[in-house]
Amino acid sequence: MDNALNRKEFLKKFSLMGVAAVGASTLITACGGGGEQTETAQAPAASAADPCTDVSGLTENDLQMRANVNYVEQTEIPEQRCDNCQLYKQPENGGCGGCLLFAGPVTAAGWCSSWVPNQG
Ligand code: SF4
Repeated sequence: MDNALNRKEFLKKFSLMGVAAVGASTLITACGGGGEQTETAQAPAASAADPCTDVSGLTENDLQMRANVNYVEQTEIPEQRCDNCQLYKQPENGGCGGCLLFAGPVTAAGWCSSWVPNQG
Protein backbone atom coordinates (compact mmCIF):
# COMPACT_ATOMS: atom_id res chain seq x y z
CA MET A 1 0.00 0.00 0.00
CA ASP A 2 2.80 2.42 0.89
CA ASN A 3 4.61 1.58 -2.35
CA ALA A 4 1.48 2.38 -4.38
CA LEU A 5 1.10 5.73 -2.65
CA ASN A 6 4.76 6.53 -3.04
CA ARG A 7 4.66 5.68 -6.71
CA LYS A 8 1.57 7.85 -7.14
CA GLU A 9 3.24 10.72 -5.29
CA PHE A 10 6.38 10.32 -7.36
CA LEU A 11 4.49 10.35 -10.67
CA LYS A 12 2.45 13.35 -9.57
CA LYS A 13 5.56 15.35 -8.62
CA PHE A 14 7.43 14.22 -11.74
CA SER A 15 4.65 15.36 -14.06
CA LEU A 16 4.41 18.73 -12.27
CA MET A 17 8.15 19.21 -12.75
CA GLY A 18 7.71 18.54 -16.46
CA VAL A 19 4.96 21.14 -16.72
CA ALA A 20 7.11 23.64 -14.82
CA ALA A 21 10.09 22.99 -17.12
CA VAL A 22 8.01 23.49 -20.27
CA GLY A 23 6.44 26.64 -18.79
CA ALA A 24 9.82 28.09 -17.85
CA SER A 25 11.20 27.33 -21.30
CA THR A 26 8.23 29.02 -22.97
CA LEU A 27 8.58 32.03 -20.69
CA ILE A 28 12.31 32.37 -21.39
CA THR A 29 11.71 32.16 -25.14
CA ALA A 30 8.86 34.69 -24.97
CA CYS A 31 11.09 37.09 -23.07
CA GLY A 32 13.75 36.91 -25.75
CA GLY A 33 16.16 34.84 -23.69
CA GLY A 34 16.07 31.88 -26.02
CA GLY A 35 18.60 33.02 -28.54
CA GLU A 36 20.57 35.79 -30.14
CA GLN A 37 17.61 37.34 -31.93
CA THR A 38 17.47 40.65 -30.13
CA GLU A 39 16.74 43.50 -32.48
CA THR A 40 19.13 46.41 -32.28
CA ALA A 41 19.54 49.57 -34.24
CA GLN A 42 22.10 49.20 -36.96
CA ALA A 43 24.15 51.85 -38.59
CA PRO A 44 23.32 52.28 -42.25
CA ALA A 45 26.29 52.00 -44.56
CA ALA A 46 28.21 55.26 -44.52
CA SER A 47 28.45 57.13 -47.73
CA ALA A 48 31.99 58.17 -48.56
CA ALA A 49 30.62 60.99 -50.72
CA ASP A 50 28.60 62.63 -47.94
CA PRO A 51 30.08 62.80 -44.44
CA CYS A 52 26.70 64.02 -43.20
CA THR A 53 25.40 60.48 -43.55
CA ASP A 54 28.32 58.85 -41.73
CA VAL A 55 27.09 57.48 -38.40
CA SER A 56 29.95 55.04 -37.89
CA GLY A 57 31.19 56.93 -34.82
CA LEU A 58 27.87 56.77 -32.99
CA THR A 59 27.01 54.48 -30.11
CA GLU A 60 24.23 51.89 -30.13
CA ASN A 61 22.24 54.25 -27.93
CA ASP A 62 22.71 57.13 -30.37
CA LEU A 63 21.60 54.94 -33.26
CA GLN A 64 18.59 53.77 -31.28
CA MET A 65 17.58 57.37 -30.58
CA ARG A 66 17.68 58.12 -34.32
CA ALA A 67 15.67 54.99 -35.05
CA ASN A 68 13.11 55.81 -32.35
CA VAL A 69 12.07 58.95 -34.21
CA ASN A 70 12.26 57.24 -37.63
CA TYR A 71 14.96 59.58 -38.89
CA VAL A 72 15.67 59.37 -42.63
CA GLU A 73 18.27 61.29 -44.64
CA GLN A 74 15.80 62.18 -47.38
CA THR A 75 12.28 63.28 -46.52
CA GLU A 76 9.30 61.89 -48.38
CA ILE A 77 7.22 64.91 -47.36
CA PRO A 78 8.63 67.89 -49.29
CA GLU A 79 7.16 70.50 -46.91
CA GLN A 80 8.67 68.78 -43.88
CA ARG A 81 12.45 68.85 -43.90
CA CYS A 82 15.07 69.07 -41.19
CA ASP A 83 16.16 72.49 -42.39
CA ASN A 84 12.68 73.91 -41.78
CA CYS A 85 12.26 72.16 -38.42
CA GLN A 86 12.52 74.05 -35.14
CA LEU A 87 14.84 71.38 -33.72
CA TYR A 88 17.40 71.57 -36.53
CA LYS A 89 20.91 72.73 -35.67
CA GLN A 90 22.40 74.69 -38.55
CA PRO A 91 25.75 73.46 -39.88
CA GLU A 92 28.75 75.26 -38.46
CA ASN A 93 32.03 75.86 -40.25
CA GLY A 94 30.91 74.00 -43.34
CA GLY A 95 30.09 70.88 -41.31
CA CYS A 96 26.89 68.91 -41.09
CA GLY A 97 23.62 69.94 -39.53
CA GLY A 98 22.39 68.34 -36.35
CA CYS A 99 19.29 67.82 -34.28
CA LEU A 100 18.44 68.77 -30.72
CA LEU A 101 16.91 65.32 -30.16
CA PHE A 102 19.86 63.05 -30.87
CA ALA A 103 23.57 62.90 -31.60
CA GLY A 104 25.18 62.68 -34.99
CA PRO A 105 24.90 64.34 -38.36
CA VAL A 106 21.57 65.35 -39.88
CA THR A 107 20.99 66.22 -43.52
CA ALA A 108 19.11 69.38 -44.46
CA ALA A 109 16.73 67.27 -46.56
CA GLY A 110 16.19 64.76 -43.74
CA TRP A 111 13.08 64.16 -41.71
CA CYS A 112 11.83 62.39 -38.61
CA SER A 113 8.49 61.80 -36.90
CA SER A 114 9.26 64.58 -34.39
CA TRP A 115 9.35 67.30 -37.05
CA VAL A 116 8.20 70.67 -35.67
CA PRO A 117 7.47 73.58 -38.05
CA ASN A 118 10.01 76.36 -37.81
CA GLN A 119 8.37 79.51 -36.44
CA GLY A 120 11.04 81.86 -37.71
FE1 SF4 B 1 15.12 66.69 -38.49
FE2 SF4 B 1 13.47 65.42 -36.82
FE3 SF4 B 1 15.54 66.73 -35.85
FE4 SF4 B 1 13.52 68.08 -36.88
S1 SF4 B 1 13.44 66.79 -35.07
S2 SF4 B 1 15.71 68.46 -37.25
S3 SF4 B 1 12.86 66.73 -38.55
S4 SF4 B 1 15.63 64.95 -37.23
